[in-house]
Amino acid sequence: MDVSLINSLPESVRVVNDALLSQYTTFGLGGRCPALLDCPDAEALCASAQRLVEAGIDFEVIGQGSNLLVSDVGIESVVLRYCAEEHPVVSVDGCCVRVSGNTLLNDLACTAIEHGVGDLSFCCGIPGTVGGAIAGNAGAFGRQIGDVVESVRLMEKDGTIREVAREELEFAYRSSVLKQSGAVLLEALLRLERCNIEAMRSERDEIMALRRSKHPDWRKTPCAGSVFRNIEPTSAAGRRQAAGWFLEQAGAKAFRVGGAHLFDKHANIIVADPDATAADVYRLSEMMITAVREKFGFDLTREIKLLGTF
Ligand SMILES: Cc1cc2nc3c(=O)[nH]c(=O)nc-3n(C[C@H](O)[C@H](O)[C@H](O)COP(=O)(O)OP(=O)(O)OC[C@H]3O[C@@H](n4cnc5c(N)ncnc54)[C@H](O)[C@@H]3O)c2cc1C
Repeated sequence: MDVSLINSLPESVRVVNDALLSQYTTFGLGGRCPALLDCPDAEALCASAQRLVEAGIDFEVIGQGSNLLVSDVGIESVVLRYCAEEHPVVSVDGCCVRVSGNTLLNDLACTAIEHGVGDLSFCCGIPGTVGGAIAGNAGAFGRQIGDVVESVRLMEKDGTIREVAREELEFAYRSSVLKQSGAVLLEALLRLERCNIEAMRSERDEIMALRRSKHPDWRKTPCAGSVFRNIEPTSAAGRRQAAGWFLEQAGAKAFRVGGAHLFDKHANIIVADPDATAADVYRLSEMMITAVREKFGFDLTREIKLLGTF
């Protein structure tokens, strides 16, 4: 990246030229980008984005990279990383919780529980940042983060900043308006309920044990969680059906492409062995789509976001 542009960035921004994106995704896969700007806070993120907009340089924003599959040949955009793995910024005032978008979702859930405000135990153990979670309306056990969002502070793609009420965010199953607009969530205000700390702690422990029994630990077994969205009900009375069930019936658990295969306890999770490439994961996901189409006659939709060309 141009030296004068780098010099115009806030000092707190860590610039990694020619960054290897595999180091910034839970799949541990993906090629390079021209530069990765690791932004420690919203001010640094906004200032960096504004410099890039002025210079006409395209950028992508990522959080912890836990829902991404980056192409082996990398991407042409600069990457702004907004992820605070060590310093959660959460303030609790009664039942209102203000949290920065780069805070890890699990840190938010644990802090809320320790302050005696709840409804977030379902977030325990979900990787990623609050920004990534609200953009994709992350959830588990029939609950979703969008349910507790009151308002957010956003940076639009052109660098302008605005406050937005929840009604404008159009939360739906694993979706919000941010997914289409590309606006970046800087901070969120959540409204929670008073809760009993001991009860929430034990709920958190149960949820963590359940997750450990069903999901891989991405630090040891690289993955990006569920590859496909669950299936919308076909009638108003129906419930959303697990994509994993259809995949299992279609025999997908036996599939393997190079170093990519399915997690033995969950047919909707692809795991990457050390020799896997992003192309292996992509080809395996295509095989999964074909298998379900041939057996059940419908197409699965990817939940993970593809970055780059496949
Ligand atoms: C082992 C494992 C288990 C998982 N279990 C679950 C689960 O139970 N439920 C669930 O919902 N998900 C689950 N996931 C998926 C993932 O954790 C979530 O999608 C998470 O919310 C992604 O956050 P992130 O910060 O990693 O986003 P990234 O993967 O970095 O980015 C994903 C998308 O969010 C956008 N984004 C990132 N930060 C921001 C921001 N600040 N503002 C606006 N957009 C932003 C990116 O541009 C990108 O489009 C799991 C993943 C793994 C690896």
